[in-house]
Amino acid sequence: NRTTLIAGNWKMNNDREEAKALASALVEALPEVPAGVEVCVCPPTIDLCCVSHKLDGSAVKLGAQNVYFEAKGAYTGETSVAMLKSVPVQYCIIGHSERRDYFHETDEDQNKKAAALIAGGIVPIFCCGEPLEVREAGTYVEHVVAQVKAGLTGLQVTDPSQLVVAYEPIWAIGTGKTATADDAQEVCGAVREVLAEIFGAELADGIRVLYGGSAKPGNIAELVAKPDVDGALVGGASLVAEDFASMVVKA
Ligand code: 13P
Repeated sequence: NRTTLIAGNWKMNNDREEAKALASALVEALPEVPAGVEVCVCPPTIDLCCVSHKLDGSAVKLGAQNVYFEAKGAYTGETSVAMLKSVPVQYCIIGHSERRDYFHETDEDQNKKAAALIAGGIVPIFCCGEPLEVREAGTYVEHVVAQVKAGLTGLQVTDPSQLVVAYEPIWAIGTGKTATADDAQEVCGAVREVLAEIFGAELADGIRVLYGGSAKPGNIAELVAKPDVDGALVGGASLVAEDFASMVVKA
């Protein structure tokens, strides 16, 4: 009975006009969203306002790709939870492997970001996932479980809708190499078990766990058919309105 979430991560793509055009095309392609499915797109920070206007009155929700955990002040280049909230933004991706790898963000950063977002009424989409070496070494479940514990322990979660986790194996991101639905289920199931340790079984049962990594129209149905895969965090395919809309319909 968890609502499926299909979230688009636009990453660092499109200029302002292109972002507006993509949002409009998506709204046109999705005059309504199927029952039991929720849709959101996460444009670059600079495009949040213009995309918000385009999505106004539609079923497509808005998310951000990053946030800083301090409330305000001398943090040049950063964006606070309150700033996102005022757009308004409902979701925010944190802990994406690209931010961990290229911008040296730590588990501790993710924990602070998650706490700040939840306190501010924005739902974190907390990403975790292993690199290829760890997959090949066979220790991927331990790796992901450690990331979830470090990132999410101690958070004040009282309702399962306050948090989303996305399992994104790094070797499947942007590579065209999707994890099999069974691979996704194995780790998403392990994520739910550790969520139960952290938050209790009842909350864990309601928290959405998504899969990400070359999710596309051709594999979305198989992925979300798995019991612990509650949707997808979509990169490349979310940049093409028809593809993303088709994933929503198939989910
Ligand atoms: P791709 O769908 O392009 O593999 O990207 C996945 C991703 O990183 C979403 O956050």
